[in-house]
Amino acid sequence: MSALAKNYNRRKISFKKGRGSFLYSTNGKKYLDFVQGIAVNSLGHSNPYLIKAMNKQAKKVWHVSNAFIIPEGERLAKRLTQKTFADYVLFQNSGTEATEAAIKVARRYFYSIGKPNKNRILCVKNSFHGRTIAAIFASGSKKMTEGFGPKVGGFDHFKFGDHQSLKKAISNKTAAVMVEPIMGEGGIKVIPDWCLKELRKICNKKKILLILDEVQCGIGRTGNFFAFEKSKVKPDIVPIAKGIGGGFPIGAVLMTKNVASSMIPGSHGSTFGGNPLAMSVGNAVLDQIFKKGFFNNLKKVSKYFYKELDKLKKDYPNIIKEIRGEGLLIGIQLHFDQSKFIKSLEKNYLLTIRAAENVIRILPPLNVKKNEINLALKIIKKVCREYK
Ligand SMILES: *Cc1c(COP(=O)(O)O)cnc(C)c1O
Repeated sequence: MSALAKNYNRRKISFKKGRGSFLYSTNGKKYLDFVQGIAVNSLGHSNPYLIKAMNKQAKKVWHVSNAFIIPEGERLAKRLTQKTFADYVLFQNSGTEATEAAIKVARRYFYSIGKPNKNRILCVKNSFHGRTIAAIFASGSKKMTEGFGPKVGGFDHFKFGDHQSLKKAISNKTAAVMVEPIMGEGGIKVIPDWCLKELRKICNKKKILLILDEVQCGIGRTGNFFAFEKSKVKPDIVPIAKGIGGGFPIGAVLMTKNVASSMIPGSHGSTFGGNPLAMSVGNAVLDQIFKKGFFNNLKKVSKYFYKELDKLKKDYPNIIKEIRGEGLLIGIQLHFDQSKFIKSLEKNYLLTIRAAENVIRILPPLNVKKNEINLALKIIKKVCREYK
């Protein structure tokens, strides 16, 4: 009998080791892992470069507290600002801490300019921003908030893709709009570039901050460092997590100088956030994904993947409804509940994970090889062919 709480519906497999795109189960099977810890292991399992960076730092110093200067964190923050819209970075340990800190930054900003009542956060109904008590009410999902009342106030919601509903939900108390450029848990739903641009315009007009939650879609997942980049929109605050640690827990909030100015000493903190061990691994992840040609290669491989998936959709129109996503954040939407299909993929040694709207999420490591994609395609095709 397991002593672990039963809040997860775990599959009955466990693993003894991982190498790149593959996981080896305790009962001796080899799986192609296109879950990768849900977009976390951006460079695959047991990446030698990351192991080396972690071991090197482990022998020096793990943790010291933010009461002191942490050079590894200084370096990671500097590199993140040099490559992005941001001027300042605040480190956390997880995605939900990052989204909560993003909300805190937005509120604190308006507080600091003498508008403390401009404090409401506007989010997409049934989005996903994490599982802390505030983040679940930000998501506004009935399932996630059930039994966790009283309701945390300060959040309003609009319907995805419904511009009327967005405009109606904005008031003079709205401090920020927080959206995922690509909804991950929500079913790999992409906000089109023109929508992001329009959203930025509305925010400018109404003096509202734009928070883009890149916890899942960021850190190279789409073939650009951030998913919003190709829209040319400039956000004010961007929470990140998942991919930045390559498997080590790291979260962060990236922000402009303007909003960061309100985060004075003592306004926020984290015991573990930004510790030397985490920061060294984060730097090692950036070393790899900022390598010349890395994103070009990712784009090439993903383009091939989509081309082949589109062919599969044409061959099996009664099974596959839509191929969604960008880069290596991929969703195969089925016409029916996807659970059985995911199980069949697993029986054929391909690991995938569900998302909302009957979507099978496919999240290879960012350095996935073409032959591994071919193997996945072969398995998906086989399951389509045999599906009853
Ligand atoms: C996963 C995720 C989170 C929460 O991250 P945790 O590390 O699980 O707290 C927040 N926002 C988005 C978009 C996510 O995908």
